[in-house]
Amino acid sequence: MNRILAGIIFALFISTGYISFLVHERQQELQKLTHYASSWSAGQLVSGYYRFESWLGLYTIDETMTVDDVRLHLDIMLSQSDLLKEGDLGQFIHSNKALNDLAVKLENILNYLDANIEKMTRAEIQGYLKVMYSIDAPLSRLSSDALNKDINLINSANSKIQILYSIYSAISVLLIILSAILGVLIFYQNRNILKAHLQVKSLAGELQESKEKLQIQNTKLEYDAYHDPLTELSNRLFFWDNLNRTIEIAERNKSSVTVMLFDLDRFKEVNDTYGHDAGDMLLRLISQRLLSMSLPAELLYRLGGDEFAILSSDLTENHAVTLAQRICDCINQPYTIYSTIINITTCVGIVNSETERRSDYLYKFADLALYEAKNEGKGKIKVFRQRMLDKLQERRTLEHDMALALVNKEFVVYYQPIVDSYSREVYSYEALIRWVHPLKGLLSPDSFIPVAEKTGMINEMGKSILEMACREAACWAVPVKISVNVSPVQLSSKAFAGIVLSILKETGLPADRLELEVTESSLFTESNMPMNTLNKLRALGVKISIDDFGTGYSSLSRLSQLAFDKIKIDKSFVHSIAKKEDALNIIKLITGMAKSLNMKTVAEGIETQEQLEHLKALGCDFAQGYLFSKPQPFIAREIKYGSISKDEPALLQAPPG
Ligand code: C2E
Ligand code: MG
Ligand code: MG
Repeated sequence: MNRILAGIIFALFISTGYISFLVHERQQELQKLTHYASSWSAGQLVSGYYRFESWLGLYTIDETMTVDDVRLHLDIMLSQSDLLKEGDLGQFIHSNKALNDLAVKLENILNYLDANIEKMTRAEIQGYLKVMYSIDAPLSRLSSDALNKDINLINSANSKIQILYSIYSAISVLLIILSAILGVLIFYQNRNILKAHLQVKSLAGELQESKEKLQIQNTKLEYDAYHDPLTELSNRLFFWDNLNRTIEIAERNKSSVTVMLFDLDRFKEVNDTYGHDAGDMLLRLISQRLLSMSLPAELLYRLGGDEFAILSSDLTENHAVTLAQRICDCINQPYTIYSTIINITTCVGIVNSETERRSDYLYKFADLALYEAKNEGKGKIKVFRQRMLDKLQERRTLEHDMALALVNKEFVVYYQPIVDSYSREVYSYEALIRWVHPLKGLLSPDSFIPVAEKTGMINEMGKSILEMACREAACWAVPVKISVNVSPVQLSSKAFAGIVLSILKETGLPADRLELEVTESSLFTESNMPMNTLNKLRALGVKISIDDFGTGYSSLSRLSQLAFDKIKIDKSFVHSIAKKEDALNIIKLITGMAKSLNMKTVAEGIETQEQLEHLKALGCDFAQGYLFSKPQPFIAREIKYGSISKDEPALLQAPPG
């Protein structure tokens, strides 16, 4: 549409310009009509010449006339003769040779007379008249030619004016048409503009509406972004924002920053036992309780799962601990959910610092304190202390060193025999890991196994010990068994059974010579993986013992799911056997149970003959402890080589690895 309009306006502009040009052209042609210059001048000249001839003729016959009368007419002629050279007539004469010659002749005649008329007699003039008469006819032709030329000019100007008029009319019509189209288009355009205006107006209305909706949505989104949908408490994002703000306030007021982290104890069990709905309900009830406590200056957050937090910038350490205790007491009150009474406790980690202003460090310190509280047990409150950080650093160093130790093969196996309680014959050797630390010397597993389990390094470590132990046992002359400890972390790995089988295959150790010692905690899990793995291995001939029996949470149903080969009675009972009747009774119970389940019993940690006698009396099948041998980097040579002879090599065997 705009292009059409632009085209029309351009056409109008051109047409108007052309009309101006036409008007100018018409003016030019009209001017030509008013110029009868050539014919008029020629007429004047020719009639003047004829008149002069007649005056000269009269002078020759009329004695009364003086030469002055003739001179007057000659002068008139002379003045008119300039017409022959100038203007339109001059141009006309110049364009024709014959006319030009005629003009020269006339000029010569007039010049001759001008020079001689006073000296000439009447007879001489009469004779000269004949010369003059000779150009009469050509002069009258000149006059008629000039007239013809002017008439032609007028005619052509007329026809040109006619054409111009036609063009003018056509263009005027075109202008009218274009104006009409322009009018229509402008009307149409106006209508469109009006329509567009209305549309824009309605769009603006809609936009305003959307803007308002968006604003509402934004407010909601902002709220959602900073709040936990379940409890409506401020969330982790808000916590970090406000932690930075709390630090700024504390910095201004030269006060301390307090970060408290709460973590519910055994919340997972609530979820697992009563379902996630009950878990959610419990979290909501806890939040409501916390909100109902008046905590004016503090801000409460749910960081996720069963973690809550409180921030403050004006608490002393004592106040913080008191507040944490109040919150714990409040949370610890029983809850009724779906007609069930649920009890829950919480651990708290607190950091209260006047100097530390880094938010991530404050959080980390509170988290370390919480970790320590959790390690101590349910419902504990711990305040961050530097030693916790040192411990963390130690753990990190240990992790790093352990990774290196694996590469450098610093882990070695020590062997401790398990003997028949009655005959004292070696039944098997238990492989016990040791770390030959380049700086700290020989380290016992208690100092690094828990960390290896946390980092997952136990998988690689366990694999390497299993491999070393199997390789060693495979070349013993007497085929006693080899017992290898297995961590719960290893057992929960899908790959474990495959690893055991490939090691057996690789080392050539028959499956029935391998005994795996698993702890009760390996089996006290939701997953069926450990049980399935052990059942699979046992079906292939591998023996399974429950280690440290009596210290964990073995459920009898779990025990019955896997027919274990042996139960190892924990050394804590063995040590107390002579002093505490309870211990004796427990061992009696365990041996009795093992017999009825068709399992053998092993007592570990036997240090005295007295302990051994008690255990024998209770029917304990196997015995292990310092009484027989401490864990050593070698095994008895009669086992290794089959017999004792003078020629055989020394008893001590270099530690593996
Ligand atoms: P455990 O399997 O119950 O091993 C028995 C522990 O009791 C060993 O400690 C052993 O040296 C110690 N012991 C044996 N007889 C006596 C005794 O008469 N008196 C006293 N007081 N202690 C005795 P160790 O070697 O320090 O091992 C500690 C624990 O580390 C083991 O307990 C086992 O759970 C774990 N462990 C050892 N080696 C490995 C391994 O290769 N893999 C895994 N996952 N755990 C291992
Ligand atoms: Mg063991
Ligand atoms: Mg044990």
